[in-house]
Amino acid sequence: MQLRFNIPQGATGKIVVDIVLTAPTREPFTHNSGFLSSLDTRFKSPSFPSADYLSSDFNRPGKYYLAVATNEEGLNITPFMERFERIAARLRKYHKKTLPLLQRKNENNWTNLSGKPGYHSRREAEIRSIHAKKKRLKKELDFLLVMMYIYVGRKTGASYFGWDGVSGITTRGKKGRLAVAVTNMPKKKVLHDLFDEWARDYLSAYKMCLPVSPFTSSTCGACGRRMKDPDTVYDEHVCLNPDCKVYKKRRCRHSNAAWVGAQMLERMVAQLST
Ligand SMILES: [Zn+2]
Repeated sequence: MQLRFNIPQGATGKIVVDIVLTAPTREPFTHNSGFLSSLDTRFKSPSFPSADYLSSDFNRPGKYYLAVATNEEGLNITPFMERFERIAARLRKYHKKTLPLLQRKNENNWTNLSGKPGYHSRREAEIRSIHAKKKRLKKELDFLLVMMYIYVGRKTGASYFGWDGVSGITTRGKKGRLAVAVTNMPKKKVLHDLFDEWARDYLSAYKMCLPVSPFTSSTCGACGRRMKDPDTVYDEHVCLNPDCKVYKKRRCRHSNAAWVGAQMLERMVAQLST
């Protein structure tokens, strides 16, 4: 332990002392997994198939967006998604209704200036406060995401984790659902690093977390054929290969992407070890 005395601060000249805890290894700082077992109680101890390789599709958080390499249906994470969905719905409301409405009112007020004095600045303050709320909610979503991946990782006993490596995508010029999905996407690098840190503390089987290619959603997890069906809706994946075991079966696109990701991860790990 180290005590660090800072220079006197403020009118009263208080000296602030920092206590710095240090250790040669991470051991003393590893979290106990009490919070993971508390999730067990909350979600009635759901069972997941055990797997060494687990991958994810975070493009559009929702049920079934984590998958293991041997499982075409993905993992049902619906019970965890309730809070997630609630927050996402609130963000959508701010984004689509509340903010545009406030901005419109603000602009109208600005041009005819017929409102009460101070009206305009109150609107500005309201808009700022909504932006602050949005920021807090997004942060909470990010933490939930990492926590849930850790939890599912422990349930499956996985050693290797895939992190869908979408980066450098902007919403510029993209309209509609994809833009919303991209906007709600967590900051990959920061979250990946947080996941890695937590995983080392919480998951005894954990070995590594690797980025997997983001271009997995048009590849079929069952046959590996890559094709796009122009009639498929955004959240669905349908394989058009007549020889495939999931031929024309409507499946969740994100679950499929995670499944493909898990298989890619398995190959990557095999290559690393040769
Ligand atoms: Zn197929």
